Amino acid sequence: MHIVFDAQTMLFMDVVLGFCLSIALSFSIHDRFVCPGAKAWVTALFSSTAGLLFLWLRLFVPLWISVAFGNGLILIAHALLWLGFRQYTNRHTPKDNLVLLTPVVVSMVLLWLTNIDPNNITLRSNIAAYTLICLIIMTIFEALKNRKVIETGRLLCAISLSFTIACTLFRALTIQKFAGNVSLFENNLNSLILMVSSGISLVGTGISVMLISSQWLQQRLYMHATYDALTGLYNRYALTELSETGSITKNASSRWSIAIIDIDHFKRVNDQYGHPAGDDVLREIASILKAHVRHRDIVTRYGGEEFVVVLIDCDLQQTRNWAERIRAQIESREIRIQGHSIHVTVSIGIATSSDSELDPAINAADSALYLAKRSGRNQVHVCTEESCVGMNGSISLKN
Ligand code: GH3
Ligand code: MG
Ligand code: MG
Repeated sequence: MHIVFDAQTMLFMDVVLGFCLSIALSFSIHDRFVCPGAKAWVTALFSSTAGLLFLWLRLFVPLWISVAFGNGLILIAHALLWLGFRQYTNRHTPKDNLVLLTPVVVSMVLLWLTNIDPNNITLRSNIAAYTLICLIIMTIFEALKNRKVIETGRLLCAISLSFTIACTLFRALTIQKFAGNVSLFENNLNSLILMVSSGISLVGTGISVMLISSQWLQQRLYMHATYDALTGLYNRYALTELSETGSITKNASSRWSIAIIDIDHFKRVNDQYGHPAGDDVLREIASILKAHVRHRDIVTRYGGEEFVVVLIDCDLQQTRNWAERIRAQIESREIRIQGHSIHVTVSIGIATSSDSELDPAINAADSALYLAKRSGRNQVHVCTEESCVGMNGSISLKN
């Protein structure tokens, strides 16, 4: 079967598609929460589309304009894609911007070649193709470096760019075969591959950018919803989530314990040394707690100066020993902040449970904490049926 296609029309369709995608994407980056690199990627799409437009315009403008601007803008687009990934992965340095010189130099070489021999399409085409392939390989590496499994947008971008490499390579390797008949708008397989791959590359990049941006936002929201910004510990919401999804009981083969740790007279620290110093104290306590738990245990900042630690597979005696160690550690720790030497103490309430419900254990440990505070602070109290009955409502610990 003889397939007839019109390369010129296909290229024009690529241009229209590229502009629609670029405009749609530029609307989506007019937001405060836009991911790093998004602006470079959208500019890359515009640049790529403009490059294709210049290639298409060769019927109406001098050849040197079409060659230099067409190839130059397409190469700039791919340099921008690379820069975008450098920004996205926080590895961008001002020196990286020098990559933009490559397209400028290459398009000047192409301009010079067009002037000395307008018919030597093979050489021009190969120079543009191999420069493009180098830039794309750099971008693929950057797109896949330290990629998390959830970041499928980065994977899609790498796949779409690999497809562009395959098509560009095919054109570069076969262009000799069509020697004498390689004008951009000749209706042969070589041109067909170029036009189709340009369209697919534009769509692939556009969808990847949208996916990357939305996945970046999802990850940010997850971080804010799960971790406390000051200490980096889990927040209260995360503890509830972990309990509701069964993570606590799933990890515990028998029983688990709760310790609520509250800094004593913390308000005085703020009043005496200032709020930023208070923040530093909170961070210091958080790091002490993190350093004294095992992998399966859960440390959370439950409220202002209150921390909750879930100790998996710990009975009451083990939990009491752990809490006593923590209390002593914090009491003896000298926290040096802005030339001040700050000492704080903590009161700790503990309770154990083998139940899947978190709230009764929290209530019980809270009652124990209340006892610790009432008995003079800087001490560990345990909530047993006998000691806590009648406080903070009913205690329903299943021992
Ligand atoms: P108690 O021994 O009874 O627990 O006394 P306290 O002063 O520690 O408790 P209180 O509840 O009266 O005060 C808690 C203080 O914790 C008040 C609040 O300003 C401070 N706080 C809460 N969150 C933060 C924070 O993120 N940073 C700082 N610096 N202070 C905080
Ligand atoms: Mg306190
Ligand atoms: Mg408190």
